[in-house]
Formats: sequence, structure tokens, C-alpha cells
Amino acid sequence: MTERNVWQAVLGEIELSVSRGNFMTWFKNTTLVEDSSKDGKVIVGVPNVFIKQQLERKYNDLIVDTLRKNGIPTEQVEYQMQSRIHKKAPGSEIPSTSLLDIPRPTEESTKNHSPAASASLINDVQSPFSIRPNATGGATQSFSHSYRQGINEKYTFDNFVVGSGNELAFAACQSIAVSPGTRYNPLFLYGGVGIGKTHLMQAVGNAILATNPNARVFYVTIEQLVQEFVDALRFKKIADFVAHYRTSDVLMVDDVQFIAGKEKFQEEFFHTFNALHQANKQIIISSDRPPKEIPTLQERLQSRFAWGMTIDMQIPDFETRCAIIQTKAQTHGMDLTPEVVELLATSVQTNIRELEGALNQLLAFADMRGVAPDIELARSLLGGAKNRPKHLSAKQIIERTARHYQVPVEDIMGPKRDKDIVVPRQVAMYMLRSELHLSFPKIARELGRKDHTTAIHSVEKIQKESEIDTELRSAIADIRGRLYA
Ligand code: ADP
Ligand code: MG
Repeated sequence: MTERNVWQAVLGEIELSVSRGNFMTWFKNTTLVEDSSKDGKVIVGVPNVFIKQQLERKYNDLIVDTLRKNGIPTEQVEYQMQSRIHKKAPGSEIPSTSLLDIPRPTEESTKNHSPAASASLINDVQSPFSIRPNATGGATQSFSHSYRQGINEKYTFDNFVVGSGNELAFAACQSIAVSPGTRYNPLFLYGGVGIGKTHLMQAVGNAILATNPNARVFYVTIEQLVQEFVDALRFKKIADFVAHYRTSDVLMVDDVQFIAGKEKFQEEFFHTFNALHQANKQIIISSDRPPKEIPTLQERLQSRFAWGMTIDMQIPDFETRCAIIQTKAQTHGMDLTPEVVELLATSVQTNIRELEGALNQLLAFADMRGVAPDIELARSLLGGAKNRPKHLSAKQIIERTARHYQVPVEDIMGPKRDKDIVVPRQVAMYMLRSELHLSFPKIARELGRKDHTTAIHSVEKIQKESEIDTELRSAIADIRGRLYA
């Protein structure tokens, strides 16, 4: 077994015991330095001094314990900075270790979701099946795979901030939590990474379990599910596997895009899906893209996935991002000034997970230095980041919108009333409002109009339509993405 596998097993366990934000911030880009376990000392490679200090101060015991559990008896861990000039994007040469970020097709790597499984990795125990109570807490099955319920209590509706980009998904999930299996079935949530898909699914699970603790609610990533399926095939336990999932009341399958290419599994999943759906059991699926864009997804599954309600989620707007930061800071017992909150919300525009990471770094840094997380500190930490706050101008927004729709800026500013000019003009107004928070009279002026009621009307119209019109929504996301790229 290589160092890398050991470390992945260790990280797999750590990921289960710390919050997602903490995992992403402190552990994600760490490595086990080659051949370091020789004389009782282990060297863990870290990307920067900041993470080094945090691991030393806060997580050393956890790391030592988990290493021991994984067959590396060590007294001492040294955290060494790996001199990398710049941070690599996930998926490039630093091995990305989040269970949720990368497909982990090999048997070894997927097993390390549970401590028992990681132990078996080390000892090279063959069977992943163990005699132990079923994790649902229900009746003990005599000889069963350790299926887990997979619900994490920390993701709730209460600590989910609702705003543009996620409100539809939030409403659908709440409605499902109240009466599962009745209205939106299946619910298919899709959108980029780190925008709250997993959080919402988990919140549904928690809400249902709160009112009905015996409900058979399962949350599983598609990779875990595929792995369990492969194991079940291998150990001739398919009947158990099938029985387990077909008796769910609520089945939530996360990151279903990784189903691509898994033909045999798709076959089985199709039947499970049908059985559950027919029995009015709730199914929730998430993916980073809509069903029809998942390569090699069998057509019949594609159409099943789209049977109920399909909702795309987007990165929330500036105000919602501010609210998220405030909420998260308060859970750490911190009150940030509006200035700091706004700086964070402008610096991170793509992904709530990164936003949390930036906040965590700020808070930890302030804590370590014994100073307040004020605007100076925030600036000094975020100032060097590539995605430094952009000071957008109205002109840039109008030009970007015009370019997206391939119409001349002069036409947008001019008197033409053709539909292919009116829509871009309204979108530009909407963007001026959502990105720069301009007043309506100011918006009207920027677009060369005198009457500000047109601006009010346009902003409202785009706002409303974007809730139901996916094309419009992705146009807005595209323009926004390019503005901040
Ligand atoms: P995804 O599954 O879409 O990749 P997650 O659900 O894992 O994203 O969200 C990433 C992180 O951001 C999580 O820690 C989650 O709690 C947080 N998060 C995302 N959206 C919100 C929100 N609207 N309010 C509060 N926290 C959020
Ligand atoms: Mg997720």
C-alpha cells in the first residue's frame, strides 16, 4: 500500500469527523511526504504556513490518532511546507482528496468512507461485509454490509441562507420534507460545485428524521452506491443490496454525474428507481449538470430523472453571499463588520464552499494572531488572491451584456424597441441592480433613459422570468461569470 493510499484513507476518516468547510480549508491540499513514516516520524506536506499552524495547533491529535488507526504508529507528525509557487487548482498535481470532489473509481479508495473499511484497507482484509448492526438502527440483520444512513446533522434548513440562486431549490426541498413522495418526485437538483446541493439534500433528511426518527432515509453519493453495488456483486449479496435500497422511504443520491459509463449499475438503478417511484417513495438526485448532459446515461434513466421536478441552482447574489458569511461567522461566535463581510462576498464569487474557506482562514488567522478580523486583516489576506474584488463599472456591465447577446451597445442605449434589443436592455438593467445595487433612477440614466419606472419594470420582469426560464438564467450566470472572471 502506498503512502498516498494511506493518506487518502486517513483523510477519508478525517472528512467524516470535521465540518466540510474545515476539511476543505485545512486538509484538502495536504499530502503524506514520501517515505516519511520510517523512524516513527511522519511528515505531512502542507501548502502554506497558515495551514501548518492550524494543523499543529488544532488538529494534531486527530491526525496522529487517525494515522495510528490506519496502521502508522507514530508519535510525532511534522508539518512541512511544500514549496509551491502558486496554488494549483483542484484536480491538478496536488492529489485532491475530498471524497466529494473527485471520482474514486477504485475499490480501495471508496472503501475508506468508514473506519471499518479503512482498517480493512490496511490489513488487506478481503471482505467488506461485516457482522454488525445495520446502521439504520433498525433490526439487526444477521450478516449485512455496513450500509450507512449518511445523514449529517449539521446541514439543516435553519442554517441554510435563502436567496436568489437557491430559493426555488429550497422551497422544493422544504415541501418534500413536509410531505415526501407526493409532489416533486424525483427532485433533480443541479448546479456547479459548492453551491449548496448537498446541504439541501441533507437538510431534507434531517427534517424528515426529526419528525419521524424511524423513517428509512438514506443519503449516498453515487460513488458509494456504485461501490456497494460492485461489492455486492462480488460477494453475491445483490439481494441484500437491492432489499436495502428498495425499502427506503427517502433515497437521496448525490453527484449522480459519476454514473456515466457504469452500465450494469445503471440497469440496477433503473429498477430500484422504478420500484421506489411506484411505491411513492421520495427520490432526490443531485448532479453538476442536467440529466440530458450526463454522458452515457441511458435514455430511460434520463427520462426518469426528468419526470418530477428539475431545478438548477446558481451561486447566490451578493446580498445572499453577505448573509451567508454573517450567519457562518455568528456560528463561530464572531460578528464581522459590514465592510469585512462585503469584502469577502466580493472576493469569492463562484462557490459557497470557497467563501466558507476564506472566512475560516480569516477567523483562524485573527485567532492565531490574537487580533480582530477587521478590514485591514481581511484585505491583507484576500488582497493577494487572484480573485481580488473587482470594481465593476456600469459601463462594463452594459458592454458585457451586449456582447453576450451580440448586439451593439448603441442599440441597447438607443430607442429601438425590437425584442432582440429589449431583452438585452432589460437584462443589463437587472445586472446593474443585482451587481452594483444602483438605484432605479441611476439605472435608467446609465442606459440613457429618462423614465425610471421602465427600470423598475425591467428588473422585476427579469427577476420573475429568470425563475422559470432556464435559458435566461444561464445567460445571466454567464454574463456574471465573465464579469468576474
Ligand atoms: P454542493 O453539494 O453544491 O457542491 P454543498 O452543499 O456541499 O455544495 O455546499 C458547500 C458549503 O457551502 C457547505 O458547507 C454548505 O453548508 C455551504 N452552503 C452552501 N449554500 C449555502 C447557503 N445558502 N447557506 C448556508 N450555507 C451554504
Ligand atoms: Mg455536493
